[in-house]
Amino acid sequence: MFDFVVIGGGIVGLSTASALLERHPGTRLLLLEKEGGWARHQTGHNSGVIHSGIYYKPGSYKARFCREGARALVEFCQERGIDYEICGKVIVATEQGELPLLDALFERGLKNGLEVEKIGPGELKELEPHASGRAAIRVPSTGIVDFKKVAEAFAALVREKGGELRPGTRVEDISEGGREVVVHTNNGAFHARVLVNCAGLYSDRVARLCGVEPGAKIVPFRGEYYELRPEKRYLVKNLIYPVPNPNFPFLGVHFTRSIDGMVEAGPNAVLGLAREGYKKTDFDLKDFVEEMTYPALWRLARKNWRTGIGEIHRSISKKAFVRGLKKLVPEVEEGDVVPISAGVRAQALKEDGALVDDFLIAEGKNSVHVLNAPSPAATSAIPIGEEIAKRVAAA
Ligand SMILES: Cc1cc2nc3c(=O)[nH]c(=O)nc-3n(C[C@H](O)[C@H](O)[C@H](O)COP(=O)(O)OP(=O)(O)OC[C@H]3O[C@@H](n4cnc5c(N)ncnc54)[C@H](O)[C@@H]3O)c2cc1C
Repeated sequence: MFDFVVIGGGIVGLSTASALLERHPGTRLLLLEKEGGWARHQTGHNSGVIHSGIYYKPGSYKARFCREGARALVEFCQERGIDYEICGKVIVATEQGELPLLDALFERGLKNGLEVEKIGPGELKELEPHASGRAAIRVPSTGIVDFKKVAEAFAALVREKGGELRPGTRVEDISEGGREVVVHTNNGAFHARVLVNCAGLYSDRVARLCGVEPGAKIVPFRGEYYELRPEKRYLVKNLIYPVPNPNFPFLGVHFTRSIDGMVEAGPNAVLGLAREGYKKTDFDLKDFVEEMTYPALWRLARKNWRTGIGEIHRSISKKAFVRGLKKLVPEVEEGDVVPISAGVRAQALKEDGALVDDFLIAEGKNSVHVLNAPSPAATSAIPIGEEIAKRVAAA
């Protein structure tokens, strides 16, 4: 009998396992991951940005955990010898109509307690000589890291603290009886006092197996990336972002220098036809039918059809994708970028057709479920884990 069974070997599950063992030393913990290793899904397919927390509603979990998480993540990287860099970023308004949104973002940054600076086109050129815009915000506390390496370091730490890790173990069913949870997998059944669900793209289904109704479904949003050819990397020094659409939780296609020196452009946001579908042609009948029969998705589509069509167009047409990039860095040409692998975001969509904006954590009788942990959850993984360990202690 385990005290805790954690489902999910992404950064959230691994950091949560570490936090549980920290708060409850000497307890028996088991972490189950269906893949053969760590960080094979969202954690291993993202932009690698240590977000500062400028975008998020003051007082929200995202705003709080992102700021705290960025600080804690940097300390963790220092302790475990993981490369990272606090290189700063710029958010650039390229059109007159974006200036009020940029101002609102600047105010939000101040409310969230961040060091932010408004800059004009001249100062922008000093920071990013090839970027162009009417005005920008400089956010010095943004950084870059390889989240896969961070997840692997958490896995090593969980082992050091006495936790048991089982990759290659898929959770297929869950039953609850009295004061225990029984987790049925392809490798047998495991009994636990408390179950913690950090299953990312499958977190809603795992919650339902546990009898917890999340009130939302995970909708997969593919994010496609291009890479700048090595001889064109000079066009981007650090991170260049557009002003995001305030109605969406996605940040808009941006340029990111990765910690290993590549410069990536993306991600866009298109509805995926498979929860773990990384290629354009990937299709899963169960996921597709579930999406198409979810009325909330149709409500979302009706409200945002124009944006949706624009994203699909950018997905099909490299020319359209590059047109978006040229707004930020006009010298980029179609021949300068090559497609690289995509990521899939697990975004919860409520029954009323609204995207869940904040991180969402729900509790069952003997279980805790992370039901919405999209960006910036990699940055925020340490405080998310601590929050779960706190809730388990209080239960
Ligand atoms: C394109 C993209 C760009 C992003 N950019 C950033 C960024 O720059 N900065 C940032 O902070 N965040 C970013 N994010 C968000 C960040 O990557 C995620 O919020 C974070 O990785 C979520 O971690 P997780 O552990 O919850 O999910 P995951 O990493 O998806 O892990 C969930 C795990 O659960 C396992 N699992 C699922 N079902 C089962 C089952 N039945 N049995 C056993 N195991 C199961 C899966 O195999 C998986 O390994 C980005 C995300 C995407 C997709």
